[in-house]
Amino acid sequence: MPAEIRLFLCRSDNYGVLLHDPESGATASIDAPEAGPIEAALKATGWALTDILVTHHHADHTDGIKALKEKYKCRVVAPSAEADTIPAVDQTVREGDKVKVGTLSANVIETPGHTNGHITYWFHADSVAFVGDTLFSIGCGRVIEGTPGMMWRSLCKLRDLPDDTEIYCGHEYTAANIRFARTIEPDNAALAARETQAKQQVATGEPTIPTTIGEEKRANPFLRADLPEVAAGIGMAGKPAAQVFAEIRARKNKF
Ligand code: ZN
Ligand code: FE
Repeated sequence: MPAEIRLFLCRSDNYGVLLHDPESGATASIDAPEAGPIEAALKATGWALTDILVTHHHADHTDGIKALKEKYKCRVVAPSAEADTIPAVDQTVREGDKVKVGTLSANVIETPGHTNGHITYWFHADSVAFVGDTLFSIGCGRVIEGTPGMMWRSLCKLRDLPDDTEIYCGHEYTAANIRFARTIEPDNAALAARETQAKQQVATGEPTIPTTIGEEKRANPFLRADLPEVAAGIGMAGKPAAQVFAEIRARKNKF
């Protein structure tokens, strides 16, 4: 049976996500930005929390863990490289590991850069990936702990997932990301179309995610740093992709 997903806002711009396996009844929260909205979503769906899958150690992804763990006795799965900075971890995982949520199964993909231990959970059979703060719609996470080269390689790993993979990210940053992306690729028609779509979504109070890998490949400049026209457009024709990526990321930091 296909997974069921419920998406909701937490804090100011974080996304909470519940992933439910109708066959077993298992339910995972992807990260735990804030206990209250997660509990409200559990109440609204009638689902019982069995697991928390943590992408990285930042407080806006882990603050809700303690309260949820105490209340639901759920299992907490976290990246092994960050387990000592995440509360109440039961199981640590690394690249190539599989994580079950009932009968649903995720492959763990290491996507360092935003933090050094950041991971992505890819539910292959359900064509969905939970990418935390690595990839955003039309953007990517700040490179806080790692290097731009590391982040570029992580984004390339995600770009290699099938085009129809639905991407759930940690934040609603799409509108601001599009404003920046237009300065990098002003003539990208897919980006212009995404801008129109996102404006409509924001106006009607809808989330702008999930997005898909195929859509991001067409419109997200951070996944397009190895295209000659993108490098040329920012005056870096012929430069290595990781350098072009680093320049785009640096410009976004100052935008
Ligand atoms: Zn973060
Ligand atoms: Fe975050």
